[in-house]
Order: sequence, then structure tokens, then C-alpha cells
Amino acid sequence: SDTNYQCIGCGVMIQTQTPEAKGYLPQSALNKGIERGEFYCQRCFRLRHYNELQDVELDEDDFLAQLDQISEDDAYVIHVLDVFDIEGSIISGLPRFIGQQPFAVAVNKVDLLPKSVKLPRLRHWVEQVLHRNGLKPEEVILVSASKGHHLENLTKVIEREVHKRNVYMVGVTNVGKSTLINRLIQHYGGDKEVITTSDTPGTTLDQIQIPLTDNYSLIDTPGLIRSNQMSYYLSREEMAQVLPRKQLKPRTFQLNPEQTLFLAGLARIDFLEGAKTAFTFYVSNDLYLHRTKLEQADTIYTKHVGDMLRPPGKPEALPELISRRIRLEADQDIAISGLGWFTVNQAVELDVWLPKGVGMSIRPAML
Ligand code: GDP
Repeated sequence: SDTNYQCIGCGVMIQTQTPEAKGYLPQSALNKGIERGEFYCQRCFRLRHYNELQDVELDEDDFLAQLDQISEDDAYVIHVLDVFDIEGSIISGLPRFIGQQPFAVAVNKVDLLPKSVKLPRLRHWVEQVLHRNGLKPEEVILVSASKGHHLENLTKVIEREVHKRNVYMVGVTNVGKSTLINRLIQHYGGDKEVITTSDTPGTTLDQIQIPLTDNYSLIDTPGLIRSNQMSYYLSREEMAQVLPRKQLKPRTFQLNPEQTLFLAGLARIDFLEGAKTAFTFYVSNDLYLHRTKLEQADTIYTKHVGDMLRPPGKPEALPELISRRIRLEADQDIAISGLGWFTVNQAVELDVWLPKGVGMSIRPAML
């Protein structure tokens, strides 16, 4: 690198010499970055503004290569999931890569859930979701990295394993892996905040080793950037509105058929058929929910996306909304990767509109 600047997207050192190498940014763009005090390497910039997918595949390859390397070590893997985006944070290929080796799942951000949540029931629910996705962890641990809740359940596992082998933390971006690692470093008495955390995908660059015993370490691995997560299409500022920090306050709307509910400009739920129904949304408390008539929804979206219906601030950075016809039962959720989930109190027929490529799942109700 010929500069001392770091990309705020992926953490790479910015360089202006080799376009095909990582961290490249043309000199002119670097100068603009210096004015703004913010740098994205060209790759991250394209990722954010033009949704260029070949970049993601590259990341996916790197990620798989990394998992492959883990499988060659005598490793214990802790797969970190985000309770706010369980399905979107599952690495479904994990067993294929680590083979028969036992692993644990740490579900982070449980502080977001209402206090009334029974943790044993939630753990059981997570196990069922994992089983349906072909994952059979040795244990499921619920934690909150930002609050430091229930960390002892995790440190117990780490300490048991790290006497025998290296312990790897793996996860897709934004599950809170950096925050969790920083907690663990504090716990083990190391320097605070050795790993940067960020709302921007891919901050953690290389594996970071934290030696815990004479022979073995806790190893943090870079996260996989996922194009099926809503956050992939959002700027840092917008992500702050979409990723919840505080306990979710469920918001309930009594909707009639022929009504539409917008989740800012990011998603749209058309209620087609059924009786008057309570829709309860578990999304960031800062996310704007807007109710309107179905017959006006197209016009309102076209007119107001980017202003009243925002994020997105720049609608052109978001893939177009694509609809899917869904029958949702009363005991099910629809989870939208990175945006949250909603549930209904009786069966309904819906059109669910999401940016093309963003993941969605129908699942037994979490709460
Ligand atoms: P990484 O990409 O997996 O390393 O994730 P980060 O540690 O950078 O965290 C991503 C986002 O999730 C940040 O906005 C964090 O503040 C937030 N976060 C991390 N841990 C928690 C948690 O336990 N609870 C909540 N509510 N938010 C968290």
C-alpha cells in the first residue's frame, strides 16, 4: 500500500497503484476521500452503489477457502448467529466443510428480544431451525455481546475446548462477531477493543489469534458478506436505522384486506385476503412503517421512495422490489434477512415485496 488510509468497508489499506489488486482506489477518488475523511476502496464502493455480484462470489471463495483451512486444523468451531437474522446468518455449508467435527452455535443479540422471552424455549426453537437447515451443533448458546449477557455459557465451552485445540469463531458479517470477540478479550484480560467493529460489512480482514493456552488460540475469522441480507444494499447511515440496537418494541397494525404496509422503502406487504388481522412487526424501532390502500401503493412507492419511504436514501442503489404470493398461517413468521420479521394472528394471503435477491423465510413463530 502506498497510503496510510484504510477502507471503511473491508478494512484493507488503500492503494492507488494496482487496479486489479485489493484496496485499489484511483488517486482522484482518494483525494475526494481525504476531503470527506472517509475511504471506500473501489471494490467496496462498487459493491455498495452498483451491486456488482462478482465481488461477492470472490468473497465467497475466500470464505470457503478459509473454512477449508479450518477443516485441516484440529479445530472446534463456534458458529455465531444473529437472533435478528437467524436464517440469513446460517452458513448452511458448514457441516460439509468441517465434516464430523463437533461445533457449537452462539446466537448473539438476544438483548433485542422482549424480556418475556423464555430462553430455554428460544434455544429449542433455534435448534429446530438449525436442524431444518442441516446443522446439528453440540450446543446452542444464547448471548448478548453488546450487553455482555450470558457470556459464561460461551467461555465455558471455549475453555473446555481450547485446552485440546484451536477454537475458531465463524460467521457472516453483522452478526456481532467482532463485538463478541472484544468481550472475550476483555474477559480474558487482554487489551480492550483490539478488533474494530463497524456497521459496514467485512470490517474484520484477517484471522486474529488470541492465545489462551500454551498451545492453542481463540481465532477470529473474517466474515462473509452476504448479498441476500438487506444491509448489503444500505449505506452505513441507513444501516444504523435498520439494525436495531435497543430491545425491539413490537408494533402491531390492525390491517384490513386491500391494505398495504410499507417497511420504509425497503419492503412492502400487500394484504390480499382474509378478515381484519393483527400484524405484529419486530423491526428496528427507528424503521418507519407506513399504512396505505393497496390500490394506491404503487403510486405512493414511486412518488415517495427515497424521501418519506426511506431508507433507501438512494433508491437506485436498491434492487427493484419483487413480489411473492404467500399464505401465512397464524403460528408462523415471515423473516426478511437483515430487516426483521412479522407475524399475524390468523391465516392470511399476502404479496410480500422485497428487493430482488434479499432472502426471506417462512418459519414457525419465534415468540
Ligand atoms: P461483525 O460484522 O459480525 O463483526 O459484527 P459487529 O461486531 O461489527 O456488529 C455488527 C452490528 O451489530 C453493530 O451495529 C453492533 O453494534 C451490533 N451488535 C453486536 N453485538 C450486539 C448485541 O449483542 N446486541 C445488539 N443489540 N447489537 C449488537
